Amino acid sequence: MFSGHLGFAYLLKLLPVTNNISLGTLFLAAQWPDFLLGLTLILGHDWGSYDPSLAGKTFPFKTHLPISHSLFGWLLGIGFLAVFQAFWRRCVTLSEIVTLSVGALSHWLLDVLVHRGSIPIFPTSNDPSNFVGLSLWDLPNSTVFGLEMAILFLPLLLLLITGRLKLGAAASVSLLILIIIHVVFQYNSNFIAPFSTDNMLSKDNGPVFLGLMVVLGLLCHFSDNNSTQDVTSKVKTN
Ligand SMILES: [Zn+2]
Repeated sequence: MFSGHLGFAYLLKLLPVTNNISLGTLFLAAQWPDFLLGLTLILGHDWGSYDPSLAGKTFPFKTHLPISHSLFGWLLGIGFLAVFQAFWRRCVTLSEIVTLSVGALSHWLLDVLVHRGSIPIFPTSNDPSNFVGLSLWDLPNSTVFGLEMAILFLPLLLLLITGRLKLGAAASVSLLILIIIHVVFQYNSNFIAPFSTDNMLSKDNGPVFLGLMVVLGLLCHFSDNNSTQDVTSKVKTN
């Protein structure tokens, strides 16, 4: 899953508890395992390899993601997000930590929906019962694309209708770029990459993957005027 994780960050932004959490931080939470994956690919702990038996299907890779995509990775995420939010806001409440933790857990749950029995529960066990996944990626590629777009756009629409997302000129441009990157990346994942043998989860692609996540996180942050105003007011009060 790719765009659906951003959709969950948008869903969290609908809640009053996220009034003081930047959309960029919510994205960091919902996409946390993929940020971590950039690092674990570079370090060689996690990896993926092309599986010819899945040619033509969405995400035709076998994966080994014990650190980034297990519940251990989720626990690491809770710690990191608490420190990040405390650093960013100078204070952090328990309900904010719980919300960010739910965001990080949503990544694990959404990935369990789509992966083919390859999402680990614990990082160290190779027992088959340690791996889960409901294989929605075996559905027709156009259905998978439609699902991802629905999970992305429905919460975004609600954010815009309810006025929870404050859009100025710069924020509108950031949002537009963010959405274009997501639609193009998702289109590529469902309709072009399945017919290529290129392995996006190789060690060499680790820095690219991490860089993409950072760029998307920054675009998220700047696509909400509230986030940028928060920083400005914090600078003024210091
Ligand atoms: Zn993931």
